[in-house]
Amino acid sequence: MLANSENNLWETTCNEKSNYGALKNNETSDLTIVGGGFTGCSAALEATSLGAKVTLLEANDIGFGGSGRNVGLVNAGLWLPPKKILEILGKRQGQSIISELGKAPELVFSIIEKNNIDCEAQKHGTLHCAHSGKGMDYLAKRKDQADIYNEPISLLDKNETDQRTGSTSFYGALFDPRAGTIQPLAYCKGLARAAASLGARIYTNSKVKKIEKINGTWHVRTETNTIKSKLLLLALNAYQDIEDKKISQQFSTVYYSQFSTKPLSSNKLSSILPQKEGCWDTATIMSSFRIDKSGRLIIGTMGAAQGFGKKIHYSWAKKKLQSLFPFLLDVEFDHIWQGKIAMTKDHIPKIVNLRENGLSSFGYSGRGIAPGTLFGTSMGKALITGNYSFLPIDPIQNYRESLTREKTFAFELGATINHAIQSIRL
Ligand SMILES: Cc1cc2nc3c(=O)[nH]c(=O)nc-3n(C[C@H](O)[C@H](O)[C@H](O)COP(=O)(O)OP(=O)(O)OC[C@H]3O[C@@H](n4cnc5c(N)ncnc54)[C@H](O)[C@@H]3O)c2cc1C
Repeated sequence: MLANSENNLWETTCNEKSNYGALKNNETSDLTIVGGGFTGCSAALEATSLGAKVTLLEANDIGFGGSGRNVGLVNAGLWLPPKKILEILGKRQGQSIISELGKAPELVFSIIEKNNIDCEAQKHGTLHCAHSGKGMDYLAKRKDQADIYNEPISLLDKNETDQRTGSTSFYGALFDPRAGTIQPLAYCKGLARAAASLGARIYTNSKVKKIEKINGTWHVRTETNTIKSKLLLLALNAYQDIEDKKISQQFSTVYYSQFSTKPLSSNKLSSILPQKEGCWDTATIMSSFRIDKSGRLIIGTMGAAQGFGKKIHYSWAKKKLQSLFPFLLDVEFDHIWQGKIAMTKDHIPKIVNLRENGLSSFGYSGRGIAPGTLFGTSMGKALITGNYSFLPIDPIQNYRESLTREKTFAFELGATINHAIQSIRL
């Protein structure tokens, strides 16, 4: 049976609670942050820990956006391999971001530990699995780059990949020991809780409608109230819900959906990912799989579980699960949910300088747990200290991208056609 599509597992299993009210008064602050995902919450945590008066406004609830819906793979680096990053950003910026993002999973795990965030954190690494011979060639070349850039990544052959995944579907894999998995919604709510405990004022159900700069002060307006502050951070990414064209950013959207089983028996679990790595594959229409703390197997893929390809993505997920693990017969999904990924044309996240004393970041292109935490932390620090050399990437004055609607539609159509064809073959 096709389960309710907006049934997010992370909401069911979240041990970190958020219980904030809506903004009901006008306030002043040093820094106003708009958006309560990894970026906004980690910026709030950093800025309050530096002694600043911080207000965070979230339109829905903490973690409502990509941060509460993702796979939970805490990966090092960006989607792009290091060589490509250097080609796009040049040597100075490229080397800096490769190095910073290489350490970013450690930043995430250290914040979790320091603030006792109850988010199923597992530092067991990730496996990037070759879905084909071509995929294995790509991983071998990626491993060569890892050696050049001192990334501690190892290439596993088919035999070892079979044992590590519990599936015979792959040709090999890259293992990255820096990475791991988390319960992403709980991590996000834990960041907010830690920031609030240091004095950050957090308001949920407080959608920002308008932002103006008057005599050097930002006026951030909800339907009913205004926050005035010297500094502003917009952390809206794919979930930006702002009418003001001067402030909204341009990118295309990729939908990604996840399907989780009920907790599996210990017998079945003993052979699936016995070392608990998180996995994704080399296919163009990528898929992922991992186990959560209660022993659910979660399979994810590009495509909207609630869109026009709903039935096709669902049918693909069932068949894919059985092709990966043929001993899982007649497994039903008890949670199905989707999220939006903000994809920039070069797959590099952006920081836009909103005139003086304001920043906006977006475009993590599907890799935002460690990058969002790094960007949020660095932007919080840069705004409070006034020292923009803390930013992991140079801010740009504005970012323009064309045909984003068409690209969004093409991504979804491509995923649907691919899953329809694969469903026949699997
Ligand atoms: C399904 C899926 C799977 C993914 N898997 C992974 C993964 O395994 N590993 C990984 O590293 N990354 C992954 N990502 C990417 C990662 O989740 C995102 O890059 C990250 O969550 C972005 O965080 P953020 O804080 O910038 O934005 P978000 O978490 O999207 O937060 C933005 C917030 O802004 C709020 N907002 C919008 N407009 C307004 C307004 N007007 N006023 C007030 N608030 C507003 C929204 O409600 C939202 O809560 C995945 C993404 C998706 C969708």
